[in-house]
Order: sequence, then structure tokens, then C-alpha cells
Amino acid sequence: MELKNCKKCGRMFSAENGHEYCTKCRLKIVDHFKIVREYIYDHPGTNVNETAEATGVPKKEILEYLRDQRLELVDRSEERKCQKCGVPIPAGRYCAKCAAELKKGFNQAFEKDKKKESSNDKGWHSS
Ligand SMILES: [Zn+2]
Ligand SMILES: [Zn+2]
Repeated sequence: MELKNCKKCGRMFSAENGHEYCTKCRLKIVDHFKIVREYIYDHPGTNVNETAEATGVPKKEILEYLRDQRLELVDRSEERKCQKCGVPIPAGRYCAKCAAELKKGFNQAFEKDKKKESSNDKGWHSS
């Protein structure tokens, strides 16, 4: 039996099956993994920062899952591209440029609605 130092807490443990962590840490990690996996499943298009914040799991750990390919962030290719112009993006649905444009368009539509509403108001008052 081979003795190893746990990569996480540094304690000696007997390393079966090539594990890098002691049993205690492994249990914790599995829990974290489950939480992270579920969060990503529920929030496709999320990123590491967001996931770490939402789950309380350290970013480093999430990155380790990704590196070990136990997890994949946004594994559907169409979600990795901007849905408007098709440039590759790390997360989300639109690239920064298109997101800004969309926001501008949204604000313009909103302004129009506001104007319409206020003219309706005038109509109400005059009649
Ligand atoms: Zn440990
Ligand atoms: Zn774009």
C-alpha cells in the first residue's frame, strides 16, 4: 500500500486507486462536485466566477473539475458562440459588442414606449 500526502489537507493517507485526496477531503470534494454540477446544469452558460459565487465552492476547485474534465462549462457549442454574430465567447449568449447593441436597442424601444404612454396620457386629459 502506498502512502501519500493529501493534496488538500496534507495528511498522510493510503492511496488506493490513485486518489490524490484523503477520504475526508474526498467526501467533501464529491459534495462540492455535486453542488457545482447541479448549478451548472441549471444555469447553462454560466462561468466559473458566477458558479463559485453561487455555490460557495472555491474557484480553484471548480477549475480542477474542469481540468480533470469531470465537468464541462457550456459544452453545447452553439452556446459558446454569440447568437448574433457567431464569434466565440466564453459564456453567455452574446459577445460584449452585440450585448451592448442589444441593450441600446432595448433602451430605444423602451424610450418609444414611454413616449407612446405619455402621448396617451395627453389624449386622456384632453378628452
Ligand atoms: Zn485531506
Ligand atoms: Zn456578437
